[in-house]
Amino acid sequence: MKYIVVTGGVMSGLGKGITMASIGRILKSRGYKIVPMKIDPYINIDAGTMNPFQHGEVYVLGDGAEVDLDLGHYERFMDVELGREHNITTGVVYSAVIERERKGEYLGQTVQIIPHVTNEIKARIRGVATKSGADICLVEIGGTVGDIESMPFLEAVRQMQGEENGNDFLFVHVTLVPFTTLKEPKTKPTQHSVKALRELGLQPDIIVCRCEKALKEDVKKKIAMFCNVKKEAVISAPDTEDIYEVPLLLEKEGIATHIMEKLQLEQVKEDHEWEKMVERRKSSRGKKIRVAIVGKYAELEDSYLSIKEAIKHAATELECKVETKWIEADDLEGVGGLDSFFEDIEGILVPGGFGVRGAEGKINAIEYARANKIPYLGLCFGFQLAVIEAARNIANLKDANSSELCETPHPVIDLLEEQREVNEKGGTMRLGDYEVFIRGDTLAEKVYGEKKVVERHRHRYEVNPAYIERIEREEVVFSGTDRTGVRMEILEIPQHPFFLATQFHPEFKSRLDKPSPPFKAFLEACLRKH
Ligand code: GLN
Repeated sequence: MKYIVVTGGVMSGLGKGITMASIGRILKSRGYKIVPMKIDPYINIDAGTMNPFQHGEVYVLGDGAEVDLDLGHYERFMDVELGREHNITTGVVYSAVIERERKGEYLGQTVQIIPHVTNEIKARIRGVATKSGADICLVEIGGTVGDIESMPFLEAVRQMQGEENGNDFLFVHVTLVPFTTLKEPKTKPTQHSVKALRELGLQPDIIVCRCEKALKEDVKKKIAMFCNVKKEAVISAPDTEDIYEVPLLLEKEGIATHIMEKLQLEQVKEDHEWEKMVERRKSSRGKKIRVAIVGKYAELEDSYLSIKEAIKHAATELECKVETKWIEADDLEGVGGLDSFFEDIEGILVPGGFGVRGAEGKINAIEYARANKIPYLGLCFGFQLAVIEAARNIANLKDANSSELCETPHPVIDLLEEQREVNEKGGTMRLGDYEVFIRGDTLAEKVYGEKKVVERHRHRYEVNPAYIERIEREEVVFSGTDRTGVRMEILEIPQHPFFLATQFHPEFKSRLDKPSPPFKAFLEACLRKH
């Protein structure tokens, strides 16, 4: 097994995840099977409880794990399916160690960070690597070198390097080379962060420098000299508008040659698929459409990252350009009309969400989309609110609401009995892959071209079965359900040019070369409107 460990220096938010995803893609294109892992040094067991405002979107895996959004980058770039074990947090490691201690499995030893915690980390990394049957295991260590939290993880990989063969282990360090106001690149922060790494016994083999503009040879030379790497191993990664170009940029800088040399890998195959897709994105001269996304964290686009990516994927296939207009849901409450918000908009999307703030604004947006025949795509909360809107304005249940949001005589969105029991025990959501059964002769069937699909979920509330009969009619159709027919999964409005809302999150399964069907169909409808 070969290992590539990616660390970060200077500051967070440099795009370490995308760098690692890109390295994975490059090696995959050369014929290798890759398994990526992310280490998040925070104490939370998983990202499920984390505020998207601070951390960006909570990404959901097929097995229902709620993880860091970098795992989304890995799945999208490397086209792999990951699971819970691919994301290790401090919380996971410590709770395993403490549990073992309580069971007396350490036989009276003093339980310590070294070796017990580090052994647990190493065992988890190796376990995932071996089980996957991959050739290369990529491990990203979250945070920045020097953080207290990441110390045990850096120590664990330091030990691993000594235990594995020299040519089976490679370190990539991602740093920042800032430019001064006089446009002069500064290498000192990089020097310092490599120094911090070396103090921990880690020497990077490759340094990826994030920068505004590509670095010149003399700058690379300087970094190489101060940081003890070859000049060819200093890779410049300038800002780019399109993250899907990053693998190509890194490739051009020769990163692959360097990795292959150090790990003694031979090229198994040559595949230019990615390059072709990116070319197609760049050269697309298609129409430009505008889509409004009405959300609660609209100012922080990272909280809807997978949606943004799914739109890009569909746009690539349809050869059009999509501009997204982020609208803060709050702003749509208590205003006279919404025309000014949705002028020159071809489609409205309401994404997932929780809690009462902004909910009425989103319902107003949905009503606007329905009444004005603007293509609408609702995802999860955007589905539930569409059900509420239909209940209120079509089925005449004036106070219809969700019991998540308030007490209401008509809880058209409610907890199912079984969910209520689960919730009393501490609460969990319906998470991950579930089958969705699609009714014939519906928009949903046209969109998917299939009768049964599997999509990822993350929700607690459901359409209340007691109200289905009162809501459903010619103009409002539940066109997808779970296997039992109890849970409603898709809502559509047949007389509308395109009105589709899903209880699941199709965005998590979208790929650049396999756009998610609802997103593609939504953009097609927007193009027709255009
Ligand atoms: N808040 C809703 C629920 O828990 C929707 C969740 C979501 O949009 N992810 O059911």
